[in-house]
Amino acid sequence: MSTHGLKDIQLDPPDFGRLLHDLQPWPKLSMLVEGVLCSLPQYVQQDFLTDQRFRITYEDYHPDRGWRLWLPTPGPPGEGTRCVVLRLRLAACEEQFSRWVIAHELAHAFLRNGGWNEILDPEAAADQLAASWGYPRPQGSWRDFLKQPDSGSEPGTG
Ligand SMILES: [Zn+2]
Repeated sequence: MSTHGLKDIQLDPPDFGRLLHDLQPWPKLSMLVEGVLCSLPQYVQQDFLTDQRFRITYEDYHPDRGWRLWLPTPGPPGEGTRCVVLRLRLAACEEQFSRWVIAHELAHAFLRNGGWNEILDPEAAADQLAASWGYPRPQGSWRDFLKQPDSGSEPGTG
């Protein structure tokens, strides 16, 4: 009972370049995110594209170095940034799983980390919204979907 028929309307494809800017060093991850963005209902795409504070960035985990996280400076109190943070190792996971994680995080952003309709729990709301976009939660956890060691997600040196 999807109500998202808007994606059938053919218009100029939206330019997600600004949103994908931070992911440029990781073409695989960028491609996955762009694929999910392109599949979203138009009013969701427009919400992201027209909000200058919305951005997509990444975090990088290494056992030796710990977490590195790039975040924009938070806005004034009450105006938190809308930032989707993706793990680089998504690029090393089964694509179905990676797309679901991306859709789930985008759903949080669209819902401003809140509920959806009668669903008050933000996690359940993000899952339901992502599922309505065609990305149901896969059974399992990260470990089940990693195709290669984390080192595979490192960009080339230099
Ligand atoms: Zn979540």
